[in-house]
Amino acid sequence: MKNFKKRADLQQYIAGLRAGGAVITFVPTMGALHRGHLSLIEQAKVLGDIVVCSIFVNPTQFNDPKDLEIYPRPILDDIQKLEAVGCDILFNPEVSEMYAGNEKWHLDIGELEGLLEGKFRPGHYQGVTQVVFKLFNVVKPDIALFGQKDYQQVLVIKRMIDLLSLPVKIEMCPISREEDGLAMSSRNIHLTPRDRQHALILSKTLNKVNQHFDPEKIDELKQLAEADITAEPGVALAYFEIADGDTLLPANKNTKSIVALVAAMVGKTRLIDNVIIR
Ligand code: AMP
Repeated sequence: MKNFKKRADLQQYIAGLRAGGAVITFVPTMGALHRGHLSLIEQAKVLGDIVVCSIFVNPTQFNDPKDLEIYPRPILDDIQKLEAVGCDILFNPEVSEMYAGNEKWHLDIGELEGLLEGKFRPGHYQGVTQVVFKLFNVVKPDIALFGQKDYQQVLVIKRMIDLLSLPVKIEMCPISREEDGLAMSSRNIHLTPRDRQHALILSKTLNKVNQHFDPEKIDELKQLAEADITAEPGVALAYFEIADGDTLLPANKNTKSIVALVAAMVGKTRLIDNVIIR
């Protein structure tokens, strides 16, 4: 695997590959790679010729400085995992390589900005679009792959692509889970064994809502889900929403595409999860 830390070097290298006709696929990550990330790389290999993975813990998308500080950064492990799965190129820049200093960025992403994750993490999606736009400019991928795990993020990136007419195709990949249902996340390493047990209420509740879904009973299902999660010790619910899969506004019985999304603090760790109902 080729490993680049400088934008210019990566751009030059990829330009050569592109000139040779290679289809470039791209998986942006913040590292601490798990099977979920690696499933994206595997899918990227299927869809294109050259897979680029970036590992960059992007400071502008963290609204909590403590969260940024404790974010895991096991880069040597990550490199081994990427090599084992056959990733072609790693881009692992320093913050100073990506940001010149006092940069301003604002993209009008409409209601997605203030809903669900946007409401609980003000400015998060501005940081996400800022860094993904920069990364797209460097890599110029034909296809970029993102996880359903961050469902709202996929909608936000698609909105950015429409607004700025970016020539990138977006592929959303399914959520990788532990055997007991917990959605894989780089943050799971912060869970104590007890947190880890309590965290299961999130995927369990999503499954339950999915199994018992009835368009006539959306409000009732949501209330039951909220009650189940709130009753779990050590879990502080941020939101549980049964939403329109395109807009993330609350769903009603006529909504065509429906997704249930949840966020909660489990001990000191913030977790999110979702299920596509239809
Ligand atoms: P992150 O490193 O958390 O920024 O995630 C990088 C990419 O991996 C994003 O597109 C995530 O949605 C995706 N991802 C994270 N966790 C999972 C998972 N459990 N299954 C599939 N994709 C995931």
